[in-house]
Parts: sequence; C-alpha cells; structure tokens
Amino acid sequence: MPQLELVDLRANYGDVAVLERISFSVEKGEIISLIGPSGSGKSTLLRVLVGLLPPAAGSIRIDGQEIDYRNKLVLRQLRSRMAIVFQQFNLFQNMTVLANVTIAPIKVKGQAPAEAEAYARQLLDRVGLGNKLNAYPDQLSGGQQQRVAIARALALKPEIVLLDEVTSALDPELVNEVLDVIRLLAADGMTIFFVSHEMAFVREVSSKVIFMADGNVVESGTPAQIFDAPQQPRTQEFVSKILRH
Ligand code: ADP
Ligand code: MG
Repeated sequence: MPQLELVDLRANYGDVAVLERISFSVEKGEIISLIGPSGSGKSTLLRVLVGLLPPAAGSIRIDGQEIDYRNKLVLRQLRSRMAIVFQQFNLFQNMTVLANVTIAPIKVKGQAPAEAEAYARQLLDRVGLGNKLNAYPDQLSGGQQQRVAIARALALKPEIVLLDEVTSALDPELVNEVLDVIRLLAADGMTIFFVSHEMAFVREVSSKVIFMADGNVVESGTPAQIFDAPQQPRTQEFVSKILRH
C-alpha cells in the first residue's frame, strides 16, 4: 500500500482553479521532487497536503485512509504527521533556538518539557546546532536559521516532510549546509517532498521527479527519465532551459 495517494486532486483559490486533477502515489521513504515553472502549483500542492488549503475535489489517502480535510480533529492530527518548511524560516524571534523547537511538542502534543527538550537537543545536534541552543534567531546566519526550522519541523516526529524552496532565500555559500541536513533525513528513510531550484541536488537525491505546469502533472519519472529523456514537449522545454544555466 502506498504511504500517500492522491487521486484527481483539485484545488482553487476563490474561483480560480490552481490544481487540476493531480494523481500520484508515494511509497514510504521516497524523495519526491516537484519541479516546474513559477506559478505551476507546486507550493499550492504542498499547502493542500498539510491542510492549509482545503481540496476542492478528489482524495488524499495516507496509509490507505482518506483524509477528511474539513474535519478539525483530523487536521490537528495531520499537523503532526506532516510538517512543512518554507523559504522564509518563520522562527519565533523572541524565543531561543531550543524554545523554537520545543514549543509545538509541549503546546500541541502536551509533551513534558523535559522530554521535549531532550528530543530537541538531539535534533539540534543532528543539524549541527548543538552549540546554539540558547541563541536567538537574529544571532544566527540564514543557513543556521533554516536548520533550526527543519529541526522544529521534525520535533513532532512527522511521517512526511514537505520542503518548499528551503534554500532559495540563502546566500549561495549557505545552501550546502542545508542540503546536507536534507541528505541526512533522506538517509534516515524519511518521506520527503522537495521543491527546489537546486537541480543537481534534485537529481542526486530524488526517487521520483514530478514536472508540473499550469496546475497539472505533465510528466513524472526517475531523475534520469525526466532530465535525460523527457517525453513531453513542456518538460523538454523546461529541462533544456534549466540545464543551460
Ligand atoms: P509555484 O509554487 O509552482 O510557483 P503556486 O502554487 O505558488 O506556484 O501558485 C500557483 C498559482 O496559484 C499561481 O497562478 C499563483 O498566482 C496562484 N496563487 C498562489 N497563491 C495564491 C493565493 N493565496 N491567492 C490566489 N492565487 C494564488
Ligand atoms: Mg512556490
């Protein structure tokens, strides 16, 4: 059984259709990269998955069970099964690094502070920030802040992590330290959705690449299929453009 299955998923902003009939499935531990021109619906798809935008039609199943995106209790449970990290890190500026990572487990899951803190320390160690527990976000570089944001997303022990252009706001020399953290997650067997312009990295880590345009999946396949032998004209055009850079 796939871990995640989308069938004919549609989403709208008001009257405007933004996702039209998206269908695909994902096995546990896959790294799914969404690529495509700006405005093609990549972020919208991630927002729908985590429950920030209700689907207009179609279904999403996790472990075979359809998610009712209109049920508040279901949505709350979903928030700890799937975590999203954005381009802008959105850390709480008035809280230490450690507090940023422990707040959701304590407030959302009712974990004991000592337990939340022990796990947060482990996570921050893993992302290379074990020595910054008491720093405030504005004392950190962009790459460090993004690594805190990733640790924070992992604090609720999600089954699936969605990473939306997490390196796009970083200075080039800081991109690799964040990609290294994503490599660690991938090696751990975490299921990851990855939206990024880092095509070399997409190619290296993805089990599947999904090319989107105008709210549709145009083509999907292994990195080699999509980058070396795209079948659809839209994909060919996109790939030839990005590979020229
Ligand atoms: P991508 O992440 O691939 O660049 P998005 O999912 O952000 O694309 O956007 C898909 C389409 O939805 C675009 O046409 C965009 O203008 C539109 N859109 C995105 N966010 C909103 C919003 N909050 N309200 C209305 N339209 C939006
Ligand atoms: Mg986007």
